[in-house]
Amino acid sequence: MRTFAILFCMVVSGLLQGQVTFNDQDLETLAKREQDAYAGKLFPRHTERASNYDVRWYRCWWNIDPAVREISGNVTTLFVPGAPGLDSLVFDLNHALTVDSVRYHNQATPWLHAADLLTIRFSATLPQQTADSVTVYYHGVPPDNGFGAFTQGTHNGAPVIWTLSEPYGASDWWPCKNGLTDKADSVDIFISTPSAYRAASNGVLKSVLQAGTNTVFHWKHRYPVAAYLVCLAVTNYARYAYQVPFYADTLEVVNYIYPEDSASAATETGSIVSMIQLYDTLFGIYPFQREKYGHAQFGWGGGMEHQTMTFVTSFGFELLAHELGHQWFGDKVTCGSWTDIWLNEGFATYLSGLCYEHLAPTWWTRFREVRVKSVTAYPGGSVYCADTANINRLFDSRLSYAKGALVLHQLRWLMGDAAFFTALNNYLHDPGLAYGFARTENLKSHLESACGEELTWYFNDWFTGEGYPSYHISWTQPGDSVLFTVTQTQSHPSVSFFRMIMPVQFKNASRDTLVRFLNTFSGQSFAVRIPFKVDSVIFDPNYELISASNTVIGAVTEFTGHSFLKIYPNPATDKLTFNFQGFPPKDPGKISIYDYSGRLKDEFYFHRETEITINTCKYSSGLYFYLLTRFGRPITGKFMIVR
Ligand SMILES: [Zn+2]
Repeated sequence: MRTFAILFCMVVSGLLQGQVTFNDQDLETLAKREQDAYAGKLFPRHTERASNYDVRWYRCWWNIDPAVREISGNVTTLFVPGAPGLDSLVFDLNHALTVDSVRYHNQATPWLHAADLLTIRFSATLPQQTADSVTVYYHGVPPDNGFGAFTQGTHNGAPVIWTLSEPYGASDWWPCKNGLTDKADSVDIFISTPSAYRAASNGVLKSVLQAGTNTVFHWKHRYPVAAYLVCLAVTNYARYAYQVPFYADTLEVVNYIYPEDSASAATETGSIVSMIQLYDTLFGIYPFQREKYGHAQFGWGGGMEHQTMTFVTSFGFELLAHELGHQWFGDKVTCGSWTDIWLNEGFATYLSGLCYEHLAPTWWTRFREVRVKSVTAYPGGSVYCADTANINRLFDSRLSYAKGALVLHQLRWLMGDAAFFTALNNYLHDPGLAYGFARTENLKSHLESACGEELTWYFNDWFTGEGYPSYHISWTQPGDSVLFTVTQTQSHPSVSFFRMIMPVQFKNASRDTLVRFLNTFSGQSFAVRIPFKVDSVIFDPNYELISASNTVIGAVTEFTGHSFLKIYPNPATDKLTFNFQGFPPKDPGKISIYDYSGRLKDEFYFHRETEITINTCKYSSGLYFYLLTRFGRPITGKFMIVR
């Protein structure tokens, strides 16, 4: 069975009515709907292999009556042969559609339409690197497989037809080179529809002309565009627009809204203005600034980031932020393989978080908390997807969306804002990637260049690796310094240790401080001077990291002597003995020695011995602390060295 999804990239926006709110159910709803949406996209059979020509331009004429679920028209493709000896062209076109004729140099040309491929045969080989064109006339009813790329519906009694092609559905309704290797440099789209309706599409509305009882809408788009991002939507739309101040210019944001929703939409879509300005500040000018941005309402739950014309069901803050973010990440720079879908979805999800951070900061930490809890709800799963035929996995919002976004946030945490945003800007403006396709390796290279460090370890842990760490901290505060030891366990065997900078908060009723520690191995001990008496230690209070099931154990008591531990002599000169009084530790452990300023001096490991003696000859006179763990709890004490 081959079916195609309707819903893509959706982020359920909650019930936002004029103010920003946050809905914890969003992720669950998102996951379910996306799984529904992508089921059936199992059979990519497009012309990825047709690399022997380069598409320059599509001129599409489509006759659409939203009351009748069918399409007719023609598509002219301007192309350049990329290899010598080209004597045929292959387009993707679903077998449910009927090819009426193919015209080449104004002559009927033979063609074969089989197995969802349209092969056009020329009488002679075409000259290499010389632009040429061919026109396909066709009609029919696109496949209605339950996830249609070409869908008819109604709203308030009025008919509507919309398209949603991602990832493989473009050829369900038009002949094209479908895939992730070749963007057309531009498109012209003519949509003829009964005059009661308006047609929304990519680029700029160049003209609206009457043709008998029909109106022809000419949309013109002069930026490179992947086939799956070409769109149309036709119904009795109401229309309104914003002008976004944009340096010395303005950018028009057009809204094609169902008439019955236009009043409420007008109060919600206004948030797009500040979002565009924010992304412009963070990631460079809106990628299609010579044209426009737009929303067209459609009938499925969620949104789809058609280039310059996002389709949305509703107008919530997070949905609008997510789909707008795709114009930079997904449309301007498009994932070069569906295995790298996180380059679209992880980024768009993170950008919606950035809108919270900058425009509605109350929800920024909550945004991360919800996603951390989603990602860590299961022990495994990587952002990278090796099996693109596994639809539930490929479009799993927990991994491609939430974990993808958090993997980006952790990079920002590690690199700092300056390097992180520099890397993303360099990625977006890389001439080899901008308005083209990118793989994860391309992003990694830009991140490494910006931070000056090799990041293979990070991508091994967090992109291809699965699972997450749990941190276990035991601490005590003898004097001015807090001493603590961190052990780490992992939820999945694919990663043996997650190297990370840990945020640890020390606080009491009136004071607190957050300190960053580079954790490079399990069992690592730290000492930090804290100028107040600490009564609690909190690991990662602000959800900067992907982790779960963390534990923090405070000291049982400061040293006054324990029934199961005796140290002698104290004061000591050249040696000091730790005697466990006949109750040897059940587990291996260690004793850490700190000087009075909190600097780690020595570590001694024990393995069930009843007594260990350490050499203290190298210690100068003074007060020292020891820290060991017994019965899972830290024990600390002091000793003196006297010479
Ligand atoms: Zn998306």
